Amino acid sequence: MTLEYVNDELSINGHGLSNIAKEHGTPLFVYDENKIRNQCRKYHNVLKNAGLDYSISYASKAFTSVQMVKLLQEENMKLDVVSQGELFTAVKAGFDAKDIHFHGNNKTQEEVKYALEAGIGLIVVDALDEVELIDSIATADIDVLLRINPGVDVDTHEFIQTGQEDSKFGLSIHNGSALKAVNAIKESKHLKFKGVHYHLGSQLDAEAPFINALESVYKWLSDESIEIEVLNMGGGYGVKYIESDLRFPVESAFKNIIDRLNSLSRAYDMQIPHVMIEPGRSIVAEAGTTIYEVGVIKDIPGLSKYVSIDGGMSDHLRTPLYDAEYEVVPVNKTYSDNVNTHVVGKLCESGDIIGKNLNVPGDLKRGDLLAVKTTGAYHYSMASNYNQMRKPAVVFVNDEGARTIIKRQTLEQIIENDIL
Ligand SMILES: *Cc1c(COP(=O)(O)O)cnc(C)c1O
Repeated sequence: MTLEYVNDELSINGHGLSNIAKEHGTPLFVYDENKIRNQCRKYHNVLKNAGLDYSISYASKAFTSVQMVKLLQEENMKLDVVSQGELFTAVKAGFDAKDIHFHGNNKTQEEVKYALEAGIGLIVVDALDEVELIDSIATADIDVLLRINPGVDVDTHEFIQTGQEDSKFGLSIHNGSALKAVNAIKESKHLKFKGVHYHLGSQLDAEAPFINALESVYKWLSDESIEIEVLNMGGGYGVKYIESDLRFPVESAFKNIIDRLNSLSRAYDMQIPHVMIEPGRSIVAEAGTTIYEVGVIKDIPGLSKYVSIDGGMSDHLRTPLYDAEYEVVPVNKTYSDNVNTHVVGKLCESGDIIGKNLNVPGDLKRGDLLAVKTTGAYHYSMASNYNQMRKPAVVFVNDEGARTIIKRQTLEQIIENDIL
């Protein structure tokens, strides 16, 4: 563990979080840079050792910034983007557009044009009419994958399930629409069909859905005589937010997934494709921690105790959005007993909650710091200016210390697009 108490102070790579908070202010996102790099390396090792031709594309939507993209480049990662803004961020960081692929269930004409001009490596076609859209804009050949829907149900929150039959993403392999799109791609002028993509959902804790998907997809490819060079099996590898969560077992699960891929390729007499995966959350979630300062404390006799912090749903949306649960700990350990407490934000919504019925020290007082763990994914990237809150600063901590990678928004920036 690189996030641990050192002399009763929560620290990352030996650097105490209270000093970092004092220097950078709160709310603050603090990332363990070593941990992000180690996650990238873990995926590389597993796929490399399996002897596969592979690539690992980080899903930008989990958390992106110019410095994050630079780190990914150093770790030989490729990139998945879902909007012009994510692509712009990558291009500004000097990332080679050939190593980026473009996703999205409704890419605009402007986005397709921008991606093609940037020299994007791959576009993932998500709908039949996108074939025509891309073909009408492209002036040269462009490699594409087709996002298919293998119809695999997964056991995760409804809002983060994506591979089921009734979905806004992809085209079904069971009702003929995926096949129709493959044929349309093959008949188009500029689109070159390279293979298929699917993403089953997020926060998956075992390999079973990936194996089920492989079986359905291989059968479909064989039934329809479709040859692929690339198989992109998406992301969704789960992380540990709270004690009862199971972390996706990357090493053992990928061993089983790749064994099945090899045996299916043999059984159907198909070439083993180039394998792409798209982890987002599992690269950054556990590396990130949010630090807040405690303000008002309300003890409602016989009912509840509320501890309010200086941020909220403007930087912590997953709890209001999906009831996601987190572990909250004091930055400076105290030895008082834990008390059942609701830790809440300062925004004007009752749903602005960090966690209900948490166990935090009973002697917390105004000015103390609280750390919310495992906030590296889908926190900063989902941050908003609701209540005209400023987006927090983000720092990376490595062995040498902390460095700002995103500055805190200024008040002036809150109104920078307003007509004065
Ligand atoms: C969200 C998403 C990912 C990443 O999911 P994680 O749960 O963050 O790993 C990958 N691919 C696609 C297409 C996605 O929509």
